[in-house]
Parts: sequence; structure tokens; C-alpha cells
Amino acid sequence: MNSGTIALVGNPNSGKTTLFNALTGSNQYVGNWPGVTVEKKEGKFEFEGKKYHVIDLPGTYSLGAYSEDEVIASDYILTGNPDIIINVVDAGNIERNLYLTTQLLEIGKKVVLALNMIDEADKRKIEFDIPGLEQKLGIPVVPTIASKEIGIKELIKRTVEAMNNGVVTKNPLRYNDTIEHHIDHLTKALEKVNLPYPARWTALKLLEGDTGIFQKLKDYQYFEALKDIEDFYKYHSQENFELEIIDSRYAFAHWVTEGTVHRPEEEVITLTDKIDKIITSRYLGVPIFALIMLLVFQLTFKIGGDILGEYLASIIESLGGLAETFLAYINAPGWLIAFIIDGIINGVGAVIEFIPIIVVLYLLLGFLEDSGYMARAAYVWDELMRRLGLQGKAFISMIIGFGCNVPGIMSTRTMDNQKDKMITTLIIPFMSCGAKLPIYSVFIAAFFPNHGGLLLFLLYALGIIIGLIMAKIYSKALFPGKSSYFIMELPSYRMPTLKNILRNMWDNVYGFIERAGTIIFAVITLLWVVAVLPVSAAPYSEFSILGRIGTFIAPLFKPAGFGTWQEAVALFAGIPAKEAVIGTLGMLYAGEYLEGGNFLVNAIQQHFTPLTALSYMVMTLLYTPCAAVLGTVKKETNSRKWTIFVALVNFAIGWLVAVIIFQIGSLLGFS
Ligand code: GDP
Ligand code: MG
Repeated sequence: MNSGTIALVGNPNSGKTTLFNALTGSNQYVGNWPGVTVEKKEGKFEFEGKKYHVIDLPGTYSLGAYSEDEVIASDYILTGNPDIIINVVDAGNIERNLYLTTQLLEIGKKVVLALNMIDEADKRKIEFDIPGLEQKLGIPVVPTIASKEIGIKELIKRTVEAMNNGVVTKNPLRYNDTIEHHIDHLTKALEKVNLPYPARWTALKLLEGDTGIFQKLKDYQYFEALKDIEDFYKYHSQENFELEIIDSRYAFAHWVTEGTVHRPEEEVITLTDKIDKIITSRYLGVPIFALIMLLVFQLTFKIGGDILGEYLASIIESLGGLAETFLAYINAPGWLIAFIIDGIINGVGAVIEFIPIIVVLYLLLGFLEDSGYMARAAYVWDELMRRLGLQGKAFISMIIGFGCNVPGIMSTRTMDNQKDKMITTLIIPFMSCGAKLPIYSVFIAAFFPNHGGLLLFLLYALGIIIGLIMAKIYSKALFPGKSSYFIMELPSYRMPTLKNILRNMWDNVYGFIERAGTIIFAVITLLWVVAVLPVSAAPYSEFSILGRIGTFIAPLFKPAGFGTWQEAVALFAGIPAKEAVIGTLGMLYAGEYLEGGNFLVNAIQQHFTPLTALSYMVMTLLYTPCAAVLGTVKKETNSRKWTIFVALVNFAIGWLVAVIIFQIGSLLGFS
């Protein structure tokens, strides 16, 4: 039984998802930057023996149709019929946040205000007169610190109380007489039809000149009302009510805070302000970002590779030995032994070995994100991105893409501009994701063990650079037009919470393990079968079915230096999921077992040179993204054409850059 539905509504990064997690005990992704939640999420909690539903919504600055995620929030608030809204407000920015509150009150929904991040407001010595705020707004106001679960009990209590008492929200805001007169007139016209939206709100939207709402009325075929509205437009088309309406809302927000919110005479210069002066400075910003990332990759390699990785690798190796002994002991058939040792242990096992590197990288990236640094990095890049025909928000999507391209592409929903969204979607697959780490790691261990961190850094940097170059080309050739003037906001620095960091890390690692047990396992099994058939051919040889197919496509990669059939097959095996590149190489080289050291690293040393290793890594960095990413491109662009475009164009770009690296390297005398 659901005793009531509560919607969490507020500006981006005000703490809605943190509050949602605190209320429902769920574990939704929380990030210290705007635009993390792009879909609505549902959860439940119990209070005094009754169950309540909670909906977490994407952040929004107003009830409009500015971007896709804003539409999700607005639509749900207006037509989803929540019983009550908890409006989450960043206490430090209360006046600006109240702009949205004003609109919530205008549509007549029940609202409780959670004055969140009160701890940070405290640091800035901002004081609140809570009863005063309650009186002016006419709704309950509860101070909270969602990240420390402070004030949550009180918030629940007041919310349930407000939900169950019969009091209706009074609209506190009146516009000037002319506008009120027009609102009355339009409301009367709109009340003739059974609108899914509040009539007064719709009237206001019409006065604001929102064309979307007019289209909606047409879609619903409300011709009766439309005629009146069209008449109205005829007489008033010259007048612009929008600014007046916006001004009145801000004036109201200002009036509410007057006498109830006390800021210190002199603004407190917090540590955040001081650090930001350096970190976001025009000339130091980008070098500092590069330095921090370099450090991240160095640490990843040191801790993840050297210390933890070796440990896990030897465990897997001993397991392999154990399995072999056991299988021989029970007299297992030869094909089963071959499948388990070559396919599972050498193939899937090779992938599993790299979990420590992934764990360490995501712990470090999670720390940077939750502390608020990554949002600053995006801010620093904003100007450069603009020059390339994009906006700073695109950089956030790119960084999210470092984890996995799928959420990176989904985060483009927060963009208000179709051009920005499309270009960002097209370039995110160039961002190196976690699934590609095992590939780099093996090659680095084989040829560049002392420069692991640096090389990893350079690969990620190359992904960004190619992405930016392509953005410029796409912006000129495919999507002319202006990008949005969205100004990034900087969140405060926060002591990252261990919970957030561990959770974000676990998300990535879990995805990795899940893929190893499903897609990678399936791909390897399938390839193993065609690699040992027909029985007349030697297994894993070029005379097997797989060998013949591989031999046919291999010449395509000759100009890039790595033209054997195994290497070609592995690249295509990586299209279902990238880790399969390594799994496949592990399986196909299985016949060449050498004593001592890591088997796969040894095999790679036999088959590659430092130069071909480099061009192979670059190819895997840039070429066709995995199936899940292609699926997301299809979903977000709603077009098969763009999906095929990404698959083919990225393949060509990967090939081209790999060829350039190999050819120039050869010319310079490297091998
Ligand atoms: P949303 O975009 O509104 O869903 O915001 P999130 O829930 O993702 O939170 C944004 C950031 O603010 C995260 O880093 C949270 O850990 C942090 N945060 C949330 N609530 C509070 C709070 O009350 N105090 C402080 N200091 N940080 C908070
Ligand atoms: Mg959120």
C-alpha cells in the first residue's frame, strides 16, 4: 500500500539524490557536479508503519522545457500527481533556488522546503530565521544536511504531516494588474477544456511566450481554448510579458529572504575561494589538471599494477595449475581441459587479472569527482571548449565517459542545445573507458613497464585530443550554428564521503566483473569453438575456421604494423565488449605457453614490438565503440544513421591514427 508519493525537486547539485538515498536507503549515483541524475528514480520508505514512495528527479532551474532532463522533471511535477513535493534548496544559494520554489507554489502543489547544505552555509556565516521563512512562504521549512543524514527525521515528520492535513498551498505571488488580468482571461479560456496542467500555470506559460505549451494544446486538440488564445495573441503580440514575469518571481524570492536570511557584512573568504583562485586560473588551470591526471595514472599503475596486480595474477595462475591437476585426476576429456585452461583461465582469467588497476583508478577518480575538483576541471576547459564549438558541460560528459561511455552519453541529456548534445555524443566514444584498461595494461607490462603511468596518461590525453579535433570538424561540417551560453556553476569543495567513492568505484568494478562472467565469457566460448574446429586442423592455427576468417581480414591492418590473424580477430572480438580483446589474445596464444613470468605478457612480447604495441593500443583506444555504447548512441540520437556513422567513422579514425603512428615510427627508425 502506498500512503503517498513524494517528489524531490530542486536545482542541480542541491543534494536531491543524497537525500533520496538517505530517505530510502538506496544507493543512487551521487556526484559533486550538476547533471548526474538524468532519469527519474523511484524508492520507498516506511514511517509510523506506513509506506511512502519517493521520486528522485533530475535537477531543474525552472518548470520549463529548457533541456531534456528538465522536461522529465517538469512533466512529472505537473502531470505525475505527486502528493507532495520536497523542494531541496541549497542554503548557500537560497535566493536563486527560490526562483524554482516560487513556481512550485504557483502551481498550487503542496511543498515542503528542505533547506539543505546548512553546514556549508554555516561556514559562510549565513544565518536563517526559519519561522520567518515559513511564514513568508506559507510552507514548512526544515534545515538538513543530507550527506550526514541530519534533519531527515524532522523532514519526514513535517512532510507526512503536511501531506495529511487538508491545508492547500496558497499562491503567494501576484503579478501586476495587467498581467493578472490577462491570466484571468486566459485561465477562463483554458478552464473550458480538461487540461492535464494547472490552468493558471498554463496561462502564465502562454504569456511568457512558451511555444512548447501552445504546441501541446494543439496536440491535445483543444481547439475551443486555442481559438480564444489565438485571438488574445492577435491583440497582444507586440507586448513582452516574459521579463516582467521573471522579474516578479525574483522580486518575490528577494522579498522572502529579506530579514530572514542574514549574510555577514563582509563575505567570508572560505578555503574554497582561496584554492579556486589558483586552480581555476586562466593559465594554471589546464596544466594543473594535466598534472593531477598524470599523478592519478602513476598511482594507478604503482598501486594497482605492481602491488595488487601481481598478487592476483599469481593467484589466477595457481588456480590454473590446480584446475589442470584436478581435470587430469578426474580423467576429463581433452577438449574440456583445453576449453577450461585455454579459454577460461587464459582468456577470461586474463581479463580478471586487471581488476586491481580498475579499482585503484576509480577510487582516485571518485575522490576527485566527489571533492568537487572535476567540476572545476570542466570549468577550466569551458573557454577552450567554446572555441571548439562546444560548452564546458561537454567536458563533464567526457569525464563521466572515462568510467564508461554509456553514462557519459546519457549525461548529454542535460544539454539544452541539440548541436552540443549531438557533437558530445559523437566524440565521447574517443574517451578511454575502464574496459580498455586491461588492454593497455598488458601491452605496457610487456614493453613499457617503467613508464606505465605516463603512457596511460598519454593515451587518455590522445583520446581527449582526437575528440576535440573531431568536435571542431563536426561543428564546422555537420552542425553549424551556435552552441549554448550555459555558464557552469562551481560547487563547493567537499570532503569526499567514503560511501560515495566506494559506491562509484564498485559500480565500475561490478560492471567489469559482470561483463567478464557474461559477454566476455560468451565471446570467448564462441571463438574457442571456431578456433578448435574443424577437428582436422590444428587447434588455434590459421587453418581453423577462426584462423581462416582472421587471415582474410588481417591484411587490412598491415599498414599499422600488426597484421597477424589473431590480432585482427581480437579487435573484432572487442566490439561486443572491449575486454574481449585481451581475453581473445590470451586464448589464441594459449598454445604457446612459456615457462615463467606472466604467460600473456610473454606471448605479447613474442608477437609485438614496442612500436606495433603502441599502434595497437591506439587502435583499441579509438576504433568502433562497444555494442552497449552503440546501443546508447542509437537511443539518444534516435537514429540508425548516426549509430552506423559512429561505428564506421571511428573505425577509420582509429585505423588512420594507428597507421600514422606506425609509419612515422618506422621512418624514425623505431621498431
Ligand atoms: P543532486 O544533483 O541534487 O542530486 O545532488 P547530489 O545528491 O548528487 O549531491 C551533490 C553533492 O553534494 C554530493 O557531493 C553530495 O555528497 C553533496 N551533499 C549533498 N547534501 C549535502 C549537505 O547537506 N552538505 C554537504 N556539505 N554536502 C552535501
Ligand atoms: Mg541527482
